[in-house]
Amino acid sequence: MKILITELIWKEGIEELINNGFQVDYDENLWSNREELLRKISNYDGLIVRNQTIADQELMAAGPQLKVIGRLGVGLDNIDTASAKKMGIPVVYAKNANATSVAEYVMMAMLSVSRPLHLADYDVRNGNWDRKTYTGMELAGKTLGLIGLGEISHRVAKRAISFGMKVAGYDPFIADYDHIVSETGVQIIESLADLLAESDFISLHVPLTPSTKYLISESELHSMKVSSYIINTSRGGIINERDLAAALTNGAIAGAFLDVLETEPILPSNKLLTCSNAVITPHIAGLTEESQIRTSLLVAKEVAKVMKN
Ligand code: NAD
Repeated sequence: MKILITELIWKEGIEELINNGFQVDYDENLWSNREELLRKISNYDGLIVRNQTIADQELMAAGPQLKVIGRLGVGLDNIDTASAKKMGIPVVYAKNANATSVAEYVMMAMLSVSRPLHLADYDVRNGNWDRKTYTGMELAGKTLGLIGLGEISHRVAKRAISFGMKVAGYDPFIADYDHIVSETGVQIIESLADLLAESDFISLHVPLTPSTKYLISESELHSMKVSSYIINTSRGGIINERDLAAALTNGAIAGAFLDVLETEPILPSNKLLTCSNAVITPHIAGLTEESQIRTSLLVAKEVAKVMKN
C-alpha cells in the first residue's frame, strides 16, 4: 500500500512507515501544487499532511483508494472532517505531541516582556551600558488569562503557576471543571469580558471553528488592560488582525505575540508588520526537535494502524 506525504515530516516517521511495509512518496512542497496533488492522490491509500494541505471533499473524492488521512500536528481546520466522516476516511492526528513545546513558547513570550535580554544585549554591543531602561518586571503576581482549557492550556497553567503567576481560564465547553482546577490550579472565570479585563497576559488556546472566528475583535481588545499583552499560538483568524493592528497602534493594549496568522506566510501588506509592539514568528510554537520526532512517529503509527485494519 502507498502513502503520500505532502508536507514536512521527520525521518523517524518515514522509517516507521517503511518498516511497516508501506511504500512512501514524500514531497514536502506538494501541498502548494494543487493540480499535481489532485492528479497524484488517485494512486494512494494513505495521505499525510501538516497544516497547509487543503484536504477538502474535492481532494478526498480524487483519491478513491484513500483509507486514512494523518495530520502532523493538532488543529484540523485544513481538513474537511465532515466530508471525511461521510466518505468513511478516518482522520488521525498527533494529539498532545507538541503541547509542551507550545507551552514553553508561551512562557518565553511572557519572559521576553518581563526581561527583554535580547534587547539589553543589543544595546551593550552598541556601547550602551544602560541599567535603568532594563528594569524588568516579575511574572510572579501577574495574571495570565487562558482562553480554552485543553491540552496546551493545562501545560501553560502548570508552568505559569510554578512562576508564581495567578492563572485564570475561560472555556464554556467544559462540563466538569473540578479536575482542571485540582490538577492545574486555574481559577475558572465564566465571562470572557471579565477574563480580558483582569489579565496582564491573555493566551489563546482554542481551535479555529466558525464560533471562534474573530473571537478577539475590537471590543474584546478594548476590554483588555492597556498594559496587557495577547499571545496567539492557536490559529490566525481567531484574532481580527485589522482590529489588533489598530489596538496596538493606538495603545489599547501594550503588545502581541503572534505565531499564527490568517494568511501564512504573512502578506507584505499586513498592517501588523508596521507595529513595533508585535512579535511575529512563522508558526513555530509547536516546532521543536523533540515534538517533531514525537509527532512524526505518532502519526506514522496511527496511519499504519488504520491501514492494517
Ligand atoms: P484542545 O482541543 O485540547 O483544547 C481546546 C479547548 O478549546 C477545548 O477545551 C475547547 O472546549 C475550548 N474551546 C473551543 N471553543 C472555545 C471558545 N469559543 N471559547 C473558549 N474555549 C473554547 O486543543 P489544544 O491541544 O490545547 O490546542 C489548541 C489549538 O492550538 C489547536 O486547535 C491548534 O489550532 C493550535 N496549535 C498550534 C500550534 C502551533 O505550532 N502554533 C501547535 C499545536 C496546536
